[in-house]
Amino acid sequence: MEPVLLYDTTLRDGTQGENVNFSADEKVKIALRLDDIGIHYIEGGWPGSNPKDQQFFDLAKRVDFKHAKLVAFGSTRKPGTTPEKDENLKALLTSETPAVAIFGKSWDLHVEEVMDNTLPENLAMIGESVKFLKWNGREVIYDAEHFFDGYKNNREYALQTIAAACESGADFIVLCDTNGGTLPHEIESIISDVQKHLEEKGCKSPEGGAVKLGIHTHNDSGMAVANSITAVRTGAVMVHGTINGYGERCGNADLTSIIPILCLKMDRPCVTPDNLNQLKFVSRYVSETANLVPYNNRPFVGRSAFAHKGGIHVSAIMKVPRAYEHMDPELVGNERRVLVSDLSGKSNVVYKAKELGVELGNNGYDSKKIVSEIKNLEQEGYQFDAAEGSFKILMEKFTDRFKPLFELESFRVTIEKDRDKPCTASATVKISVEGKEEITAAEGYGPVSALDNALRKALDRFYPDLDTMRLVDFKVRVIDGTRGTAAKVRVLIESRDQERIWSTIGVSEDIIEASWQALADSFQFKLAKEEGARIGN
Ligand SMILES: [Zn+2]
Repeated sequence: MEPVLLYDTTLRDGTQGENVNFSADEKVKIALRLDDIGIHYIEGGWPGSNPKDQQFFDLAKRVDFKHAKLVAFGSTRKPGTTPEKDENLKALLTSETPAVAIFGKSWDLHVEEVMDNTLPENLAMIGESVKFLKWNGREVIYDAEHFFDGYKNNREYALQTIAAACESGADFIVLCDTNGGTLPHEIESIISDVQKHLEEKGCKSPEGGAVKLGIHTHNDSGMAVANSITAVRTGAVMVHGTINGYGERCGNADLTSIIPILCLKMDRPCVTPDNLNQLKFVSRYVSETANLVPYNNRPFVGRSAFAHKGGIHVSAIMKVPRAYEHMDPELVGNERRVLVSDLSGKSNVVYKAKELGVELGNNGYDSKKIVSEIKNLEQEGYQFDAAEGSFKILMEKFTDRFKPLFELESFRVTIEKDRDKPCTASATVKISVEGKEEITAAEGYGPVSALDNALRKALDRFYPDLDTMRLVDFKVRVIDGTRGTAAKVRVLIESRDQERIWSTIGVSEDIIEASWQALADSFQFKLAKEEGARIGN
């Protein structure tokens, strides 16, 4: 099958998404990751529009991409000038990228009512700009902005705009669903008509074959991926998208879905299997760099994409994973997860025990007994599918394998409020490790942070490697609001070190007690891991 060219615009269209920002340095690092997984074209930004993008292209001049072509993005020349005098086009050339993308208007509404321009001048702007860039030795990707809306409004004119780009030597004509309102069946019929029209007009690619079409979609109707895939099926050979679907409004087409669909389900070569299994890593890398929480339910690469909760599902996937999985998660670098919750059956516990290396049944605690204990705890408000760290400790307790790496003797927390000043909190913690006691005090922004600081200080004498660990999230939920102040609270703490993230849970009628449970589990989990590493376990 013919390969499909992947065109990533995370660094340009992606950064138009709310809360998505990258520094020039971060952009270079992301571009290198994209190059690593075999993206063919990386759109780095709009050098004519802001100094940060200009800085990125300056930095990128010193970078050797193994595979990808870097693309600078801009617009056609302004009305009433020449390409040679147009600052925008000049900035594209000074970026020194092998390829450039320029967008032009296809929708008469934009030309006449938004731009206050004339239809013929718009055609001249497209043709002259493409010619100018080709003359300067660039590969030219022409983005037909609002193509589908333009086509619906004035088919003849929309077709004239792309014919102008073709006749001037554009290497790719990319049809854009800029407003994201087009549906897959419309994409199919419009692209088919475009192909027919360009052929009838005798338009060719610069190599002499059929015009090479690309697709650029937005997700305002939840159709960005479906529309891209439909376009490829109809004959597009280039797909634009962003990692994690970041982009303006509802985002762009998500390459983390498009890539596995093309490779695994349509047999369209685009990246190698080795690159494909880096996909989850790249998705995380980009969300971490953007400082955005990754969506758990993102197809293919989300944490929950292959997570099984229902007992029937779990017993089935233990026999045949295919029974409840559309593909092997490892192909995209993801993993199968089994969740433990009140929907659990025995199979979940057996699977989980195996995963954690816990042997069941040695002390009379078989999977059936554990399931019933878990169900009791869940009645009390525990929820283990979101707290794998605490679940591991619980399983170890059930099977007499739990070795506490510290024990609490006592703690005291004081909170002080002085008029309208912010609260201050301090905590004293007394712990013992193998019979040796340690008592410390610390302050914090609130009671949990004070406890965290005091415990850390106390443990430091015994376990000096704790500075890589930090708390990243703290969630409190009232479980039974109908009982007023006697209602229980559930505290979930998420912690991380350089290698992994883990969650722990505490439940109590007292928020500090619940927080302590979750905090203590989090440190026990971290220390057990260090201890395991130390004794080569
Ligand atoms: Zn776009």
